[in-house]
Amino acid sequence: MAVPKQKRSRSRTHLKRAKMYSSIKVAVSTCPNCGEPKQPHRVCLHCGYYGGRQILEIGE
Ligand SMILES: [Zn+2]
Repeated sequence: MAVPKQKRSRSRTHLKRAKMYSSIKVAVSTCPNCGEPKQPHRVCLHCGYYGGRQILEIGE
């Protein structure tokens, strides 16, 4: 089995991980209630609606 010859430095690990996370794109859809951008299949954080009804109480 192949084994790494040298320990990878914390800096290298963190640099690669940061690059990986920065490349991940988050899907965005618009809320049918308020039209704000939100993640699909999740409660709208702007108005608190999901599936045509109020889920979260958003204090203005
Ligand atoms: Zn909304």
